[in-house]
Amino acid sequence: MQFENTLAFARTLDRTDPLKKFRALFHLPKVKGKTALYFTGNSLGLQPKSTRQFLTEELTDWAQLGVEGHLHSKRPWLYYHKFTKKGLALLAGAKPAEVVAMNHLTVNLHLLMVSFYRPTKSRFKIITEAGAFSSDQYALESQVKFHGFDPDKTIIELNPRKHEYTVRTEDILSAIHQHKDELALVIFGGVQYYTGQLFDIRKITQAGHAAGAVVGFDLAHAMGNVKLNLHKDQVDFAVWCSYKYLNAGPGAVAGVFVHERHAKRFNLPRFAGWWGHHEQERFQMKKGFIPMAGADGWQLSNHPVLPAAALLASLEIFRQAGIKHLQTKSILLTGYLEYLLNQTGYVGEKFLVLTPSDKRARGCQLSIYMKQQGKKVFDVLTKAGVIADWREPSVIRVAPVPLYNTFEEVYRFAKIFNEALK
Ligand SMILES: *Cc1c(COP(=O)(O)O)cnc(C)c1O
Repeated sequence: MQFENTLAFARTLDRTDPLKKFRALFHLPKVKGKTALYFTGNSLGLQPKSTRQFLTEELTDWAQLGVEGHLHSKRPWLYYHKFTKKGLALLAGAKPAEVVAMNHLTVNLHLLMVSFYRPTKSRFKIITEAGAFSSDQYALESQVKFHGFDPDKTIIELNPRKHEYTVRTEDILSAIHQHKDELALVIFGGVQYYTGQLFDIRKITQAGHAAGAVVGFDLAHAMGNVKLNLHKDQVDFAVWCSYKYLNAGPGAVAGVFVHERHAKRFNLPRFAGWWGHHEQERFQMKKGFIPMAGADGWQLSNHPVLPAAALLASLEIFRQAGIKHLQTKSILLTGYLEYLLNQTGYVGEKFLVLTPSDKRARGCQLSIYMKQQGKKVFDVLTKAGVIADWREPSVIRVAPVPLYNTFEEVYRFAKIFNEALK
């Protein structure tokens, strides 16, 4: 599409946007009484108006039924983890049995690494991206130490080439091949939180498997942002949180994917709890853990119904919008932002966009690397009613979310940014 740098053009895109009605389904935060330019759906997604209703239903059932709600509430709590499966499976490109909502992201990463990082004396190395989100770094480091290995000799972090900002797929594939005799696990973000790079999940998985390694992904910035095909791509396992693009609220219940081919590997070592135990016998309280087949077998505790109700509310909106339509709009919306940033005339001089310009190698986020006075520019944006986010040392992350952001907002952001640069 031929973009134009005018408000009228942005408004035309909004008028003809097939997903325009979805914005009204969300509460839009205000700054000084005015609707904010909210571009932080990558950090905390906005609240669907329906969330309150979903929560109220569970609160009402709890008030009226007490413990009987486990069986007799509208959505019986005993089976609550089943209700989000379909929606999660759609977004993950998975079968319902391959996904389940549970715990929090870092907890899930540990739990799945217990099963899928099985280092031996000869095969123990992990390949991952350099500069991964801190929690992932800590998880890997502590898992490696837990198995008695030295993190410095075990974790291989892949950096971009000199004068480049994102890692080339060919470099990832060749590193995997190079370490193939010692490699136990390949683990990457889906979308890198800092640069916004979408890694090539299929190619990385193929290369990892060819090297005899297990392959997992942290989809914190990918679920609900990009179209995923975890099942087809043969990914072994994945984890995500639900408070970013999934709009399930602060501290929301997270989720996991375990590929079908591992569904009945009951001998895989795992840390167990009663909610992962064979469903028909769960309440017999017998000795001897018998895992459920599929992702369910990794659950530990009874389901957090209130957070899951919020997740359910949000997944219903994703179902109505359809991830394919969201992807189409996302490419256009972020493409428009990229175009407008290029139009400022300050690219290269005052800022750079770190995120790949190839739309297949990114989601909706653009990471703007400020060459000078970045914090000052960011403060001007904030004063003007923009909610974006600042990442040390000098990156402004902007994520136009196709469910609720508009082309006009992107236009207004670019205008404010341009003024701030002057
Ligand atoms: C947001 C995010 C986290 C946060 O972990 P929690 O366990 O949800 O607190 C971890 N890793 C990545 C890549 C993230 O983007």
